[in-house]
Amino acid sequence: MDPSKFEGIGMTSKRTRDRLVGRLIEQGVSDQRVLDVMGNTPRHLFLDEALAHRAYEDTALPIGHGQTLSQPYIVARMTEILLGASGPLQRVLEVGTGSGYQTCVLAQLVDQVLSVERIRPLQEKARKRFRLLGLHNIRLKHADGGFGWPDAGEFDAILSTAAPREVPQGLLDQLAPNGVLVIPVGAEQQDLTLVIREGDSSKFRTQKLEPVKFVPLLSGVTR
Ligand code: SAH
Repeated sequence: MDPSKFEGIGMTSKRTRDRLVGRLIEQGVSDQRVLDVMGNTPRHLFLDEALAHRAYEDTALPIGHGQTLSQPYIVARMTEILLGASGPLQRVLEVGTGSGYQTCVLAQLVDQVLSVERIRPLQEKARKRFRLLGLHNIRLKHADGGFGWPDAGEFDAILSTAAPREVPQGLLDQLAPNGVLVIPVGAEQQDLTLVIREGDSSKFRTQKLEPVKFVPLLSGVTR
């Protein structure tokens, strides 16, 4: 992505993004592909104007409807885990489009991203951002992503940015052989969790990675 067209001044500039990348490295993010993409993605475009000046702080920020744009560290970490746990990724499913920032990061690293969001106005805003940024390898669906995207086939990887209490069976069912799922799991206490399907069997290896704090995965949709 060439972000120069979307360049602002001060808190929305490339220099500010470089500082963000520096902080991600200090926090232990090491995948250069992820660092490059995050250094080139204009995060301020994923927030309402009143909050844009805070876009490169390492913090979660509100996007309306009680939802949040995840902290940059978490976006970087989840993306790095996803890329590191698998071979080249063709089709990736995201549960919880939200602002679309994580979707946009993924779309620059894999062939195709399919993303499901249950709150229609968030989905519509995200769609406009992808158009503005010229990203054409993203498909969106307004649905309860706890069931995945069943008629879209299997996915090499699935990433959820909302936390269920337990890993939804529907998501496991949609993992391709050796597919990986990265998902926060739990209620008050949540763990970022990595699930890997063993070959084409129905066996899954599960690993808890680190404590996290995400909004809950809710059922149903809102208009
Ligand atoms: N990836 C987003 C994070 C948004 S917060 C970003 O970068 O901005 C998590 C999102 O998950 C919210 O938008 C919320 O509405 C959505 N969500 C929660 N439960 C969901 C479900 N069952 N299906 C689809 N989306 C869901």
